[in-house]
Amino acid sequence: MLRWTIGDVRITSVPESESLTSPRFLFPDVDKKKLIQIADRHPWLYDHFVTDKGMMRQKIHALVVDTGKERIVVDTCIGNDKKRHNKGWNNLQTDFLSKMNAAGYPPESITHVICTHLHVDHVGWNTRLVGGKWVPTFPNAKYLFAKPEFEHWSQTAYADGDDIFSDSVKPIYDAGLAQLVPLDCKVGECVQLEPTTGHTPGHVSVRIRSRGKTAVITGDMTHTPVQIAEPGYSSGFDSDPEKARQTRHEAFARWSDGATLVIGTHFATPTAGRLVKVGDAYVLDTKIDENAKL
Ligand SMILES: [Zn+2]
Repeated sequence: MLRWTIGDVRITSVPESESLTSPRFLFPDVDKKKLIQIADRHPWLYDHFVTDKGMMRQKIHALVVDTGKERIVVDTCIGNDKKRHNKGWNNLQTDFLSKMNAAGYPPESITHVICTHLHVDHVGWNTRLVGGKWVPTFPNAKYLFAKPEFEHWSQTAYADGDDIFSDSVKPIYDAGLAQLVPLDCKVGECVQLEPTTGHTPGHVSVRIRSRGKTAVITGDMTHTPVQIAEPGYSSGFDSDPEKARQTRHEAFARWSDGATLVIGTHFATPTAGRLVKVGDAYVLDTKIDENAKL
C-alpha cells in the first residue's frame, strides 16, 4: 500500500483497480501508435505510465488523508453492485472495504468524504447496497460536494445513461450527510479544496499543507502523466476541453514550485512525484519524492 507523509498528515492510497487502458478511451484522437510517438518525445513516461505497446497504465484508488483530527476519504472509486454500461465497471464485487480496514481506516472512523467531482469512478463507494437500498458507506462522515458540481449533476443526465446521481449521490443528500461547499472550502487546519474546473463545471483538486510541507491530489483535471508531458491534450470526458487545458497550464505553473508533491488520482504506481518544468513541458519526477514510503 502506498503511503506519504506531509508534515503531520499521512496520506494512504487504497486501490480499487489497476489496469492497462487503451489511449482512445481517454483521448479519442490518440491511438496506440500516436501514444508511442508522444512517449518517444518524453521517454520518462515509459518508466511507469506508458507501455512500449502504446497502452496507458492507470489506477482507480481512494486517498485517505489522515490529519490526526480528520480522516478524509478523497474520491470513492466505482463501488460494488452498481449497474454500469462500462462492462469492466458493471456490478463490481471487490474487497475495497477490507483494504480500507487493513489500512487502519474502518468506514465508521471516516469523518469526511470529498468527491473531486461527481463522475462514475469518484462517487461509487459513497454508498453500498444493504437490504436492496443504497446507504452511506461512511455513516459518520460529512460528504463535501462542491455546490456548482452538485447542482450541475442534479439537473444533467450522464452521457452513457447510468443513473449515478440516484445511486451514489442522492442517498447521501437524503440521509442529511451532504454539505454543498464553495470550490475553495477549508477542511480543518491542513486541507483545502482548490478549484480546477474544466473537466467538470465544479471540479476541485485537494491541497494538503502541514509543517511547511505541501501536497495536492489532482482529481481528473489530469488523468495521466501524458497530460503533464503535453498539457494540451484534453480528455474526451472533459466537459469544457479548452477550460480544462487552461486549468492544467495554470495549475502546473503553481504546482511546479519544487516543494509540492503531486498525487495523481489515476496515475499508476508510484502515483506521486514533483513537477519539473522543462522548456514548455513538465516532467513528473517520481525519483525525488523523498516522502514516499512503500
Ligand atoms: Zn476519474
